[in-house]
Amino acid sequence: MGLYVQKFGGSSVRDTERIMNVAKIITDTYRQGNDVVVVVSAQGDTTDDLIEKAKEITENPSKRELDMLLASGEQISISLLAMAIEKLGCPAVSLLGWQAGFNTSSAYGTARIKAVKADRIRAEIDRHNIVVVAGFQGINRYDDITTLGRGGSDTSAVAIAAAMHAERCQIYTDVEGVYTADPRKIANARKLKEITYDEMLELATLGAQVLNNRSVEMGKKYNVEIEVLSSLNRVPGTIVKEVAKMEKMLIRGVTKDTDVARISITNMPHTPGVAFKLFSTLASHKINVDIILQSVGRSNTKDITFTVSKGNAQEAVDCIKETFDVADSDITCDTNVAKVSVVGAGMESHPGTAAKMFEALFEHDINIEMISTSEIKISVLIEVESADRAVAAIHKAFFPDELA
Ligand code: ASP
Ligand code: MG
Repeated sequence: MGLYVQKFGGSSVRDTERIMNVAKIITDTYRQGNDVVVVVSAQGDTTDDLIEKAKEITENPSKRELDMLLASGEQISISLLAMAIEKLGCPAVSLLGWQAGFNTSSAYGTARIKAVKADRIRAEIDRHNIVVVAGFQGINRYDDITTLGRGGSDTSAVAIAAAMHAERCQIYTDVEGVYTADPRKIANARKLKEITYDEMLELATLGAQVLNNRSVEMGKKYNVEIEVLSSLNRVPGTIVKEVAKMEKMLIRGVTKDTDVARISITNMPHTPGVAFKLFSTLASHKINVDIILQSVGRSNTKDITFTVSKGNAQEAVDCIKETFDVADSDITCDTNVAKVSVVGAGMESHPGTAAKMFEALFEHDINIEMISTSEIKISVLIEVESADRAVAAIHKAFFPDELA
């Protein structure tokens, strides 16, 4: 018995049937004697549809008005869900972000949660209400409605769990948890029982879209255990938590990211300051650089290769031209690449993880173009056509069938 925060994403509440299904999960939790705070996203594709509507009027809507519009999606889902809970015989009250005490920074569209003043939520719980809170939104110091950025309701849920010292923060979604690879593509992908925040952050950035990154960062900061589980099949999910007493596994997962472009400049003078100038220009354009490789060429020149997201590729090329006097023929931009990675805190204490990964690629005749490593991750850049094959081969090497 304790306080449960339960978050349901857009697909879990997309129609009346799904809303009733969710209401059943919530009322079951409540009837077991727990206090329940629920966080919901807008139904189905509502947020996308609202953005479309705004774009029909103007390509450049005011950010304040866009937040006012987008926040309405969650107002629909909280009120419907509160009605559904009452229909199942339990008391419920719905609250918008500002009513629930979500104070945010003033940046419309990308607001950060500054504090959750949970007095109202507490008062409603004291009245034995199930509290249904609109995710993804808050209020800034001008008393205007703000939103937290796409997928922000996960963060709303973790923030409430942190502020109220909840027993559990459960993020219900349409998959059963976090897997060792994309279960739609890899037949013997396994569901993980648990994973650390750092591993989850790597997996989230690498394209395993189960949890919003900021929610994991917040969970780590305030030590909130987050459980990812399905709203459709009632089976245990995956728990994101700190390392202590973890199931020992060499790696937790294999992922691919196709939102990558590789940019190279060749024949740069082999003198100090080239990398500094290049990467500070990219930074001033707020372009995130991922893998970097520099090599010395013949006749006192050097080559620099780096990767950025596809959306930043053109701007990165422009930055190079702005910074250096280089011939067009010395710049290449390749978007036909993918990054495939293995992630796992276990590799820190196991030599040979990289060799095992590279061997799997070699056996399938897949050429590695770039490599980068951190304590808990090894990534390779390869041609995009081979990416799925690479994930399958690497997954098989680390998770042989007999263990499935
Ligand atoms: N409804 C918002 C979105 O679609 C927030 C969320 O789903 O978490 O981005
Ligand atoms: Mg959504």
